[in-house]
Amino acid sequence: MDAKKIGIMGGTFDPIHNGHLVIAETAREQFRLQEILFLPSGHPPHKEHTMPASHRCSMVSLAIAGNPFFTLDRREVESSDISYTYVTLQNLKKELPQTELFFILGADSLFDFQSWRKPEEILTYCSILAAYRKHEQQDRFFQQIDLLNRKYPGKFFPLDTPSLEVSSQDIRNRVQHGRSIRYLVPEEVGAYIRAHHLYQGGIGI
Ligand code: ATP
Repeated sequence: MDAKKIGIMGGTFDPIHNGHLVIAETAREQFRLQEILFLPSGHPPHKEHTMPASHRCSMVSLAIAGNPFFTLDRREVESSDISYTYVTLQNLKKELPQTELFFILGADSLFDFQSWRKPEEILTYCSILAAYRKHEQQDRFFQQIDLLNRKYPGKFFPLDTPSLEVSSQDIRNRVQHGRSIRYLVPEEVGAYIRAHHLYQGGIGI
């Protein structure tokens, strides 16, 4: 039997939006992944003022509730350490030695990848599935995939995904300015943001 394959969708998810969901679903389908773990970061090394993890996790739970392949993994938010991706993947690989791991990310993270802590070690645990975020970025995006594959052969794969140019920053800006976020986030996430008055003071903008 083939090894089990799971995808890992890491992010700040402040808040989760349809761009995250669509790339996770594309990865699942395109690479026949049996499960996708949504892994909100606890103390991201590069983002300082994030919404408390409890809110970010609640919104992820609501967003993925209808998809039986999607699971919330709280390991990073429950850890008091800075969440480095290589440590998380090292732990996952120890727990699931027979499982093939695929880390899912967007183009901005792909361009940053080599500045992450221990990129070589990350690639011993997983392959990378990357999605472009902006249409005009497409050429640069494929060049970057080629460049990384020359350095780390066969480790980077492009996702054939519709590009949704939504970002969490855009959602936070819209909420702060009283603009609609309908169809950019799942309805349940929009309702949660309203019920808890999140982002109105511009936290994290
Ligand atoms: P922010 O606007 O606060 O920087 P974000 O929208 O980039 O946040 P993150 O939670 O930081 O969201 O992203 C998690 C991962 O999802 C990253 O690898 C990011 O590149 C990717 N991603 C986010 N939005 C999209 C999108 N619209 N299309 C493709 N990838 C995306």
